[in-house]
Amino acid sequence: MAIKKITCKTALHYHDREFASNYDLNIYRRCGHRCIYCFAQYSHKYLDTDQFFDDIFVKTNVTEILHADFSKRSWNSDPVNICGVTDGYQPIEAEYCLMPKIIETFIRHKNPMIITTKSTLLLRDLDLLEKLNKIAGVSVQVSVSAMDELIREKNEPL
Ligand code: SF4
Repeated sequence: MAIKKITCKTALHYHDREFASNYDLNIYRRCGHRCIYCFAQYSHKYLDTDQFFDDIFVKTNVTEILHADFSKRSWNSDPVNICGVTDGYQPIEAEYCLMPKIIETFIRHKNPMIITTKSTLLLRDLDLLEKLNKIAGVSVQVSVSAMDELIREKNEPL
């Protein structure tokens, strides 16, 4: 796996799809979960490599940019979805630990959060998520592709 550190100019991405939130926050580009059915690969075609599962981009300044986005007078505290086209708790999050700083920024701005993940790594941040839930609200959606562990391992190798 190749890790590429990048910086971003904006953190929040608006879309008009019918979903619980119209704002996505993707702290990584691409995803190391390696799901064989991954729907998100098409959305990364613009990048200069096609190794969707192996070349992971880390947005090293995303917390600071998110704070700047939340501080804009025009921001109206809409719920924000973490992460629409990648998993914020994918394997390299265990090393880079971006999510605790992201959740702390949500707490600072009292902004509601939606998380969709298939990783138990989320449990690492339970204290922070409970704190945010009390002051702004957190919705956690867990993706379960199969109840049979052998099938699940084939669908989701990591
Ligand atoms: S967790 Fe989502 S983004 Fe990541 S590989 Fe699986 S389907 Fe793709």
